[in-house]
Amino acid sequence: MAIKILREGKAIFKTSIGDENNQINLKTAFYNPKMKLNRDIAVGLLNALCRWNKEQIKVLEPLAATGVRSIRFALEVACVSLVKANDVSKRAYEVLKQNIELNGLKEKILPYNYEANFFMLLLRGKKEYFDYIDIDPFGSPIYYIDSSIKVIKSKGIIAVTATDTAALCGVYPDVCLRRYDAVSTKTSFQHEVGLRILMGSIARHAVKHEVGVEFLLSYAEGNHYRTYFTIHRGKASCRETLEKIGYTIYCKKCFWRKTIKRNLEFNLKHCPRCSEKTVYLGPLWTASLGHEKMCESLMSSAQKEGVPVSKKYFSLLANLKREVEGTPTYYNLHSICSRLKISPAKKSLVIDYLRNKGFKAVETHFDPYSIKTNASIQEVEEAVFNVKT
Ligand SMILES: [Zn+2]
Repeated sequence: MAIKILREGKAIFKTSIGDENNQINLKTAFYNPKMKLNRDIAVGLLNALCRWNKEQIKVLEPLAATGVRSIRFALEVACVSLVKANDVSKRAYEVLKQNIELNGLKEKILPYNYEANFFMLLLRGKKEYFDYIDIDPFGSPIYYIDSSIKVIKSKGIIAVTATDTAALCGVYPDVCLRRYDAVSTKTSFQHEVGLRILMGSIARHAVKHEVGVEFLLSYAEGNHYRTYFTIHRGKASCRETLEKIGYTIYCKKCFWRKTIKRNLEFNLKHCPRCSEKTVYLGPLWTASLGHEKMCESLMSSAQKEGVPVSKKYFSLLANLKREVEGTPTYYNLHSICSRLKISPAKKSLVIDYLRNKGFKAVETHFDPYSIKTNASIQEVEEAVFNVKT
């Protein structure tokens, strides 16, 4: 049986090369088809970048595996002039080289075979900088943030995928503490906490290098978190970045929560609503997850460039557009109704009720039975009760 040629977007590629009957000579690279949406959005974002800047874009992918992401950038984004694609595995590197040839991209994509951090520092030594860097490792991306900041151009964009969501969202709090220097625990809005701890950690890495960060788009999807950020050099930007890092204080008993800035209100040890002991989650990113305009651009770029994207692409971005600039936590209506010992309230009715009371209330992409609102837990409970009667 011959090794299959796969397709994703405009790319064709193999995950293995060599003799299938001889495992010793078979060379393979990791490919996860579930990350197609992640790559579709990256293509959409680079196309949006092309429209804004109308300049040539130089891309770096330090953990390239099969190279499918780099190949898609080269084929689907007109202004990408050069991609440097690297993988530490010798076998993956051989697959990557063949896939580049298969797509006729030898002039546009250059393959390398180094450890990712070593490669980025080597490029820094040569004073080579990039407009866009995509960090997509297996597990935590945090080991690569320092090096990527050293080779990004001013106002360039770094994209980061994290698949260690269990550590970030509080399933493994000790791992989160070691890896991200942050406290996480299971809550009814744990995926937003996980994503914001990742963002906060990235921001704290960045300021060490005298650069501030601006997050353009961040979301949770499937089994991963994803964030795109741009950097701004200088002390003022660092100060502004640090002001957006803080903590969410949470009561596990009654779901009261409050998000605070760094070093403020560290004495709120008991819930003002029910007197239960509170937990401090973070440090985490307390400002917006991105820009509404970025979501709009991504939706229109997919239509204009004719990139073959799924329905999920548009539904995710439409959801994000509603909530990226909203409050830093969400309310899970199941948990609230269950605590109040009432049957689940209909989400759309709760949203309408809160809006009629003058609050902002929207669905959230984090969880199908949760809402984001600037109303307090008391007001959400009142809404839940009233739509039941
Ligand atoms: Zn409480």
